[in-house]
Amino acid sequence: MRLDGNRIRSRRIKLINMCIFCKIINQEIPCYRVYEDDKVLAFLDIEPVNPGHILVLPKIHYQNFEDINETDLSALILTVKKIGKLLKDKLGVDGYNVHENNNPIAGQEIPHLHFHIIPRYAGDGLGHWPGKSYQPGEAEEIIKKLKN
Ligand code: 5GP
Ligand code: ZN
Repeated sequence: MRLDGNRIRSRRIKLINMCIFCKIINQEIPCYRVYEDDKVLAFLDIEPVNPGHILVLPKIHYQNFEDINETDLSALILTVKKIGKLLKDKLGVDGYNVHENNNPIAGQEIPHLHFHIIPRYAGDGLGHWPGKSYQPGEAEEIIKKLKN
């Protein structure tokens, strides 16, 4: 009896601590599912940048891009490709952006690796992100760091 109680308590604690996307994967939070297999889930973003904005994520909780193993990454990226085609074929979009944020500094709000696939529509008001120029010597400095 005590063992069962402990087990139930520990499962409850795990559920409370689980990230929101793990809860969606476990069907504890509803979402509009677009595609699913044993490794990957794709669903509509609740606050779309444009209608049809889809999130694609591995069913295993990896925090960000450098954490995922190659098998799960292959499944993930192949699904991203599939969803891009789905948007073109079924929603008739002319193009789309594939986006992935790593860590809060880069805008990651949910610490469960996910790709955003954002359909683009003519006149949707979204621009390109702004570019900067390198200061003299800066590019060389960065290359030196990256290669050493
Ligand atoms: P991030 O900033 O982490 O790259 O993106 C998180 C995305 O998840 C946001 O675009 C946000 O709208 C979406 N999101 C957050 N909570 C939920 C939710 O409960 N359901 C769905 N469908 N999307 C969510
Ligand atoms: Zn998670």
